[in-house]
Amino acid sequence: MKSDIVVVGGGPAGMAAAWAAARSGAETLLIERYGFCGGMATTGIIGSILGHYLNEKEPAVAGFLKVLVEKMAELGGCERWEVAFRKYGISFDSEILKYAAEQLLCDAGVKFLYHSYFSKAKVNSGSIDSIEVVNKSGTMNIEGKFFIDATGDADLSCFAGFEYTKGRPQDGKTESMGCIFKIAGIDEEKLTEQTVNEARVKLSKLRSSGELKIFNEGLGGKGSTIRKGERSFNMTRYAGDATNAIELTNAEIFLRKETFKIYKFFKENVPGFENSYISAFNINAGVRETRQIKGLYTLTEQDVIEGRKTDDSVAKCTYWIDIHCPFGRTINTHLCYKECQTSEYCVMLDKYRDYLPSKDKLYPPDNDWFSIPARCLIPERAKNLLVAGRCISADHKAMGAIRVMATCMATGDAAGAIAVTCLNEKCNVQSVPVKKAQKIIEQLGGLF
Ligand SMILES: Cc1cc2nc3c(=O)[nH]c(=O)nc-3n(C[C@H](O)[C@H](O)[C@H](O)COP(=O)(O)OP(=O)(O)OC[C@H]3O[C@@H](n4cnc5c(N)ncnc54)[C@H](O)[C@@H]3O)c2cc1C
Repeated sequence: MKSDIVVVGGGPAGMAAAWAAARSGAETLLIERYGFCGGMATTGIIGSILGHYLNEKEPAVAGFLKVLVEKMAELGGCERWEVAFRKYGISFDSEILKYAAEQLLCDAGVKFLYHSYFSKAKVNSGSIDSIEVVNKSGTMNIEGKFFIDATGDADLSCFAGFEYTKGRPQDGKTESMGCIFKIAGIDEEKLTEQTVNEARVKLSKLRSSGELKIFNEGLGGKGSTIRKGERSFNMTRYAGDATNAIELTNAEIFLRKETFKIYKFFKENVPGFENSYISAFNINAGVRETRQIKGLYTLTEQDVIEGRKTDDSVAKCTYWIDIHCPFGRTINTHLCYKECQTSEYCVMLDKYRDYLPSKDKLYPPDNDWFSIPARCLIPERAKNLLVAGRCISADHKAMGAIRVMATCMATGDAAGAIAVTCLNEKCNVQSVPVKKAQKIIEQLGGLF
């Protein structure tokens, strides 16, 4: 197979990248290991969509996100854009997202290759000639003029030999994995303030004793579901390297077991859950952080908290440094910062406290955003490779901010636009005229 632009990975970033490239007239192929798109939004049933919210009048992300929300709204899968973007999180139905996204991409002219796992790249002096995927046909060779790595884990960049980092510099630990699950059949009328408070007290005891390995006492919400009587829950953690197949397998088994324990607690203890049932386990453990490519620029904590802007900005991010404990701890531990109250030994608190962000300095300035420069999407030495989504060039702390789905879609739009610019200008990614890519992003309704 052959295509001018080849996008690997059909998550928030990959969908946006493929849409942006095809909408701008380029022949585009999207390769995805599962039989549908959405990435963590569907395989991880993660929601709501975060990172677009600037204030009630103005979004920080539009482009593919806006089109997707409009399409889902038309299909009854979320609120209309005019309503949705004014909220901090956009809740949606993850089943509708699968269909809506696919239709949008088909309409834009994207060609698909599902059930295909990227495994190898043939590289010549920084230029990828072709990649190999493994699927039911055996192996297939795919040639492209430009490639976009939207695998979340930077699989393509890593196996093509480009440099990357993984986790924090001191011990290489990444944010913990997690597992979102949905419970349906809930009688939400019974969830009064009193019921909720009582449930929280019980959950808090079980959390403190370690009987339930949960990092909050929430009763779920409308994240990746908008259905009456159904809620999605984000409560579990697992420490491990999700690019290690054995650790990822262990995560799946551990997290499913914990999920079932939590569900049993709700069913047996919380009024309203008597007739409830697990309506969805995730298909893939929730992976927050793995590899970051080493790009021409690496986003830092300072970029986030100072709301820094750059001339080569290709996306806006309003999100904050949200680092889930890399040790997977849940007792007296909320997020990873200097003020963590864990009573267990933590090498970071003991030896590297200065490195950790402070609880009071996690956010961009009020009502403000920071730039994601085009340089964060361009791997050092690469000639025809771009990266989009959570694996762009960012340090461990800035990564905790840019990993949310709206921001990943915005970097997807940008990667698609940069690839098309390179194709049109017959240049390599190192010398892309960013102003021209920005023009394309603008034409696609993107913000930067
Ligand atoms: C527990 C948890 C809770 C979260 N909560 C929120 C939240 O509430 N709101 C929010 O906005 N974000 C949240 N996030 C973050 C967000 O979901 C992810 O960071 C985001 O989805 C990353 O998008 P992506 O496109 O970069 O990668 P992914 O969503 O991981 O998509 C990557 C895609 O590439 C495919 N792929 C990977 N490797 C290969 C390969 N080798 N060959 C072929 N295909 C491949 C995958 O199947 C997938 O479709 C959460 C994350 C976790 C883990």
